[in-house]
Amino acid sequence: MKLLVVSDLHYALKQFDWLCARTSGHDLLVIAGDLLDLAGHADIDTQIIVVEKYLTRLAALAPVAVCSGNHDLDGENGAGERYAEWLRHVEIEGVSVDSQTLFHDSLTITICPWWDGENSRSQVQAHLERDAERRGSARWIWLYHAPPDGAKTSWNGKRFSGDAFLAEMIARLNPDIVLGGHIHNSPFSAAGSWYDRIENTWVFNPGREMSSTPTCMSIDFDTMQAVWESSSGRKQIRLASQEGVHSPAV
Ligand SMILES: [Zn+2]
Repeated sequence: MKLLVVSDLHYALKQFDWLCARTSGHDLLVIAGDLLDLAGHADIDTQIIVVEKYLTRLAALAPVAVCSGNHDLDGENGAGERYAEWLRHVEIEGVSVDSQTLFHDSLTITICPWWDGENSRSQVQAHLERDAERRGSARWIWLYHAPPDGAKTSWNGKRFSGDAFLAEMIARLNPDIVLGGHIHNSPFSAAGSWYDRIENTWVFNPGREMSSTPTCMSIDFDTMQAVWESSSGRKQIRLASQEGVHSPAV
């Protein structure tokens, strides 16, 4: 079971092309938010059409799980909070999106949308609490664009700039792995990192580089290795060397 993980592509089409060339051979592709770019040259509707075409191509190569980031918001809910309406309505076979739970092999994957206010946040909380009940013995993974506050993956070069609500939910519900992004430079800062551990939970942020190759990560559950690749090379950690990581059912 091998996952490929990217985040923060920000409508960099060469990076989407790279993903199409790289996804085969993985059992799941994770895109952890910010597929679009609100400051991009193309208007948002065009970006959505193009990204949906890429998602269709990618889903032909491997199942895809996508959560929204703050750059993906095109709609507004009844409470006046912005959300990624387009992603909610993506109906592509093999693509799982915001507010869905994907049960894949020995994984339960909870896909959290970017929340823009109390209403959306309480829906995320209810979703996580529901999945805590039904995860069973599966390894539990969350997709959540922002990193938890206080983690190295939330270091922005000056301070920790993460999500305090997420940190609270991790402490309460103990997922095995949280995949996100958002703070583009934390893997490249001395005090930051592409990974961290909060109690028994591994948290990851692959970061972002302006290049035709995105920074990316892979997680191999057979060898229990996580690998991060960027222009600065390849780094690897072993997940199984830490005690307390949840084991899948035998
Ligand atoms: Zn971003």
